[in-house]
Amino acid sequence: MFNYSAPSDSLKDRVILVTGAGDGIGAAAAECFARHGATTILLGRTVKKLEVIYDRIEAAGGPQPALFPLNLESATESDYNALAVAIEENFGRLDGLLNNASLLGSLTPLEIYPLEVWNQVMQVNVNASFALTRFMLPLLRLSSDPSIVFTTSSVGRKGRAYWGAYAASKFATEGLSQTLSDELNTTQENIRVNCINPGATRTRMRAMAYPGEKPETLPGGTDIMPLYLYLMGPDSRGVTGQSIDAQGEKSPADYNA
Ligand code: NDP
Repeated sequence: MFNYSAPSDSLKDRVILVTGAGDGIGAAAAECFARHGATTILLGRTVKKLEVIYDRIEAAGGPQPALFPLNLESATESDYNALAVAIEENFGRLDGLLNNASLLGSLTPLEIYPLEVWNQVMQVNVNASFALTRFMLPLLRLSSDPSIVFTTSSVGRKGRAYWGAYAASKFATEGLSQTLSDELNTTQENIRVNCINPGATRTRMRAMAYPGEKPETLPGGTDIMPLYLYLMGPDSRGVTGQSIDAQGEKSPADYNA
């Protein structure tokens, strides 16, 4: 695992938006951020799942979260705008954005890959991350230590047969992250932008992609949180344009100047 141990209050008073917060890694991240003091905004498409995470954060004594149900496949400019207005009214700024929600799509040769599924995967994994990030930038500028994290995958760095739209979407995610990081560097803004590759993690998506694998052999979402805490917290200040493995052997010393 990424070798980092966050102080228990490392995210105190931060406001962090997590997409896909109702399940899998997004749910683990929202709970973990709240345990470290953050007020979380839980965005996802299934209200019931978001409510479960909301209740768990409250039961654990974390700061009261906010819920924002949104289907990223059909979200429009006015939805993103409404979210920005709600965050500004309630919190006055945004300190962290974790673009985590994704669809796996079909594991199918490109030659017969269904166009409809291709478009769905690109819409959720790439277009929605771009649109959400674009609408959140003005709020992130109001933070004293803003951080944007995108979620990539090993197939976003090297293509693999049959991973189709998912692989292409993760390459696009890496490109989006690098381009935004470079732009914000050029304008000397302090917003850092990085990618996390979670690595094989015990979730619903992983089980769909690898039905023959024994889930109990994999780390759970909570186990891979050190890198998420590092990139959302003050210790990663100045680190930008990186794509880091949550289950790699690196540590902050490899990235901090
Ligand atoms: P899950 O499928 O377990 O969770 C994905 C989350 O995204 C769910 O909460 C889901 O909501 C949400 N989501 C999907 N579509 C939409 C949509 N249209 N609108 C809003 N929310 C949506 O996946 P993981 O937790 O495994 O994956 C999290 C991230 O990590 C993804 O970006 C994935 O690509 C990446 N990743 C995961 C790996 C793994 O081994 N698990 C490995 C490498 C990368 P709902 O529950 O309502 O469906």
